[in-house]
Amino acid sequence: MSNYTRIDEYDTAKVNAIAEHVRAILTLLGEDPEREGLQKTPQRVAKSRLFVTQGYEQDPIAIINSAKFKEEYQQMIVVKDIELYSMCEHHLLPFVGKAHVAYIPKGYITGLSKIARVVQAFARRLQVQERLTVQIRDCIQEALQPLGVAVLIEAAHTCMQMRGVESQNSITTTSAFTGAFLSQSKTRDEFLQAIK
Ligand SMILES: [Zn+2]
Repeated sequence: MSNYTRIDEYDTAKVNAIAEHVRAILTLLGEDPEREGLQKTPQRVAKSRLFVTQGYEQDPIAIINSAKFKEEYQQMIVVKDIELYSMCEHHLLPFVGKAHVAYIPKGYITGLSKIARVVQAFARRLQVQERLTVQIRDCIQEALQPLGVAVLIEAAHTCMQMRGVESQNSITTTSAFTGAFLSQSKTRDEFLQAIK
């Protein structure tokens, strides 16, 4: 489920300003920013950082409202294995994984692709996994007012892996629930079973 839209136009003044700082960092790291392999690196880093933080310019509630339909369906809707790429706000290194989202509608549903876009809009910011999980939950709860929302994220944090803080294969799992999913209920079990 990859519908990541590309940014093809960047604010040149912003790119140049960030690039200048990246060049300074390269020098401080003992590198020669003028050597061939690094000449375009500051510009590339600037653009890539703007790309992976474009979520600041997106309104996740508006994403859902752009495809919100009246519907009497009242069973659990599960969108699993949503690709997730985010940036740890403590180290500015990526954390990568999957998000699983479920909700039980109460009068309104949204397009399945919108759920994935909401995940991306929040993931493309500087994040901690815990807050990302809660923000996705709260957005869907606010926009659709369903009987309940469940969000579970499994991610590997390169800031831990690369620094050897935890074993290479360690996965962090976070979850957040509302309404019908809140207690250790059959509903929650059904969700956890569905995403296995
Ligand atoms: Zn980190």
